[in-house]
Amino acid sequence: MKQTDDKCPLCQGYKYKSTTTFTVDLKFGVVVVRDVPALICEQCGEEWIADKEARELENIVNDARQKHSMIEVANFADLLKVAS
Ligand SMILES: [Zn+2]
Repeated sequence: MKQTDDKCPLCQGYKYKSTTTFTVDLKFGVVVVRDVPALICEQCGEEWIADKEARELENIVNDARQKHSMIEVANFADLLKVAS
């Protein structure tokens, strides 16, 4: 667990660097992305995803929307490999 100096605006607990699972319900289907880098509050568990990662997730969601996938499951690390 890598603690940061960043404090949670909700409970003042410290955020630490970790990964989370991002899920979105698109009505016709769901998108699940595992191992997304995120800052997580050690006290209340609130999660923050940075802009760079959020943009990547947006691409995945748009992609799934176009494909009309019922279930789209991805691993964030794999996606970065494909992109580069
Ligand atoms: Zn908190």
